[in-house]
Amino acid sequence: MSYDPNNIFGKILRNEAPAIRLYEDDQTLAIMDIMPQSAGHCLILTKEPAETIFEMTPEGVAACMRTTQRVAHAVRKALSPEGVFIGQFNGAAAGQTVPHVHFHVIPRRQGEDLKMHAREMGDQAELERIAEQIKQALE
Ligand code: 5GP
Repeated sequence: MSYDPNNIFGKILRNEAPAIRLYEDDQTLAIMDIMPQSAGHCLILTKEPAETIFEMTPEGVAACMRTTQRVAHAVRKALSPEGVFIGQFNGAAAGQTVPHVHFHVIPRRQGEDLKMHAREMGDQAELERIAEQIKQALE
């Protein structure tokens, strides 16, 4: 599959589009999801030019999982959800809407339904407030 660098996450990685950034290292970038399915929904982007996990190197996948676990720890510490969902979609048939590999970290709370996937914009001030809490909890 050929990678199109003009997707929104490619632009965020190159600082050509805005994002609420949480954490960055050589191989990954963690940001807030702009249309959160629950309060505290984060995304971990690979820096590899890959549309799906099948084009990634094992090292790139390992780096994503390290950052995903790190962000999940911070989300749990900062927001105390009862559960944390971690997921990643490959291909439109699986529900992928942005063609650049990323992992979802979604806090889950007892009795609370998830909002629709990639449907409703979150409140910017609320996203920034939650991001600050998560950043403070990142070790
Ligand atoms: P996918 O369906 O590809 O797994 O998920 C893409 C995710 O990216 C969705 O949860 C959607 O809300 C989020 N998203 C789409 N556009 C943007 C954007 O411009 N900025 C951020 N931070 N998230 C986005």
